[in-house]
Amino acid sequence: MHADRKETMSRDFLIDHVHIIDAEGVLHEDMRVRLSEGLIAGVESANAPPDFPTAETVDGRGCYLTPGLVNMHTHTPMNIFRGISEDVDADTWFNRDIWPYESLIEDADVRAGTLLAAAEMIDCGVTACADHYFSAEVICQAALEIGIRLDIAPTLFGPAGDFSGQLERTGELFRSWNGREGRIAVRFGPHSPYLCSPQELRMTAEAAGRLGTGAHIHLTDAEKQVGESIRKYGRTPFAVVHEAGLFDVPLIIGHGIFIREEERQLVSRDSVMVLCPKTYMKLGMGMGNVLQQPEQLPLTVGTDGAASSNTLSPLEQARLLALIGKGAARDGAAWKASDIWKMLMRGHQALPFGTGRVKAGAPADLVLWNLASLRTAPVYSPLSALIYGAGPTEVTHVWIGGTLVKRDGRLTCDYRGIIDEASERARALVRRGRGETRLVF
Ligand SMILES: [Zn+2]
Repeated sequence: MHADRKETMSRDFLIDHVHIIDAEGVLHEDMRVRLSEGLIAGVESANAPPDFPTAETVDGRGCYLTPGLVNMHTHTPMNIFRGISEDVDADTWFNRDIWPYESLIEDADVRAGTLLAAAEMIDCGVTACADHYFSAEVICQAALEIGIRLDIAPTLFGPAGDFSGQLERTGELFRSWNGREGRIAVRFGPHSPYLCSPQELRMTAEAAGRLGTGAHIHLTDAEKQVGESIRKYGRTPFAVVHEAGLFDVPLIIGHGIFIREEERQLVSRDSVMVLCPKTYMKLGMGMGNVLQQPEQLPLTVGTDGAASSNTLSPLEQARLLALIGKGAARDGAAWKASDIWKMLMRGHQALPFGTGRVKAGAPADLVLWNLASLRTAPVYSPLSALIYGAGPTEVTHVWIGGTLVKRDGRLTCDYRGIIDEASERARALVRRGRGETRLVF
C-alpha cells in the first residue's frame, strides 16, 4: 500500500540517457527527458548538465522512449467475452453468440471487462483508446480509476427507438464527463449507417457540431452493406455519411475496408480510418479494398473488441497490417515499418488530448522499451524491432499524464484482482446463458 501511495504522488521523473523515437519515426540518441506535473518539462541532450534534483531518475541506457500507443477502435467491456465464440464466421459470431450474451450484460460485467481491457492495454504500452459501447458512465469510471485516457462514444442504435433521447443522453454524458481530469473525452457513437438512418446520422452530426465534439462510427466491414445501402438509400455508406454531415466533424471510422474507389475522395482529412486486421482475418472477412493505395487514406490502427481480436495490442495489429499488406502486394518493400509507425501514431491527432509528441509542454504519455531482449536484440533498426518483434514484454515503463502505470515491466494496478473478478463474472455470464436476439445484422 505504501508503494502505491508513493506511485500516485511521484510526478517528477528524469529519464536519462535514453534514445527517443518520435511520432515521425525519427531517432534522437542519448537524450534526457524531464517530466513534471503530468507534462514533459524538457527534452535535451544527455550531455547537458543535469538540473532536476527532486526528480526520480529512470536509467534509460540502451532503452527507447516513444509516445504512448493509441488504440483507435475498441469495445473495452467486450474483454468479458474474450474466447466465448471462436472459429466461426462473422454472422454466427455476432448473431448466435455475442449479441444474445450481450443482451443480458450487467454493469458489473461492463466494469470488469473494461478494467481487464485497460490493464491489458497499458501492459502493451497503450496510453489512450477510442471506445464505442453502451454503459458509458461505467466505462468512464473504470478508465479514471486505472488511469488510461479514454475517448468514449456511447453507441447509438436506430432500432432502439427515441433517437433524440439517445442523443440527449450523450449530451448529458458530455456535459458531466468530457475533459474530466484531462483524461476523458466524449463523442457521439452512431453504430453504423445500417443501424442508423440518414436522418438519424444528420441529427448526430448536428448534435456533435453544437457541442464542438466528433463522432465514431462503423463503416463497411462487410461487402453486403454497400449493396444494401445503395438499394435502400441510392447511395454507398460513405456517401450516406458524407451527406449527413458527419465528415464536417472530427470522425473516427471503424473499418471502412470495403471502401469503393469513388468513396475515397469523401473521406475528410481530419478523420481517421481505423483498421483492425486481426478481427478481419479471424472472422474470415478479408481486407476489402483498403490495401490499395493506402497513402490516399488517413489510416490508423485499432484492435476492435477482445471477443473478435482476443488481444488489445495496437502494435500487434500494426504488425499484421504490415505483413498482410506486403503479402497482398507480393512486395516486401511495401508497407514499410516507418510508414506503419506513422499510421500507429496518427491516432494521436484524432484524439483531443494533445498527446503524441515527445516535446516540452506535451502531456507525459510515454512508453519506455527495452529492445535488448530475446525477441529484438541486436538492434540494427529500432523501428523495425518495434514493428516486427516487440510486445508487452519489451514495455518496461508506461507513463500516462506523468503517472507511472507500468514500472520495471509490472503494472502498478492490482491486475491479479482484475483478472479474478473478470473470470468470476464470466462464469456467472455463462450460467445465465444467452438472451433473446432482437436484432439480426
Ligand atoms: Zn467495432
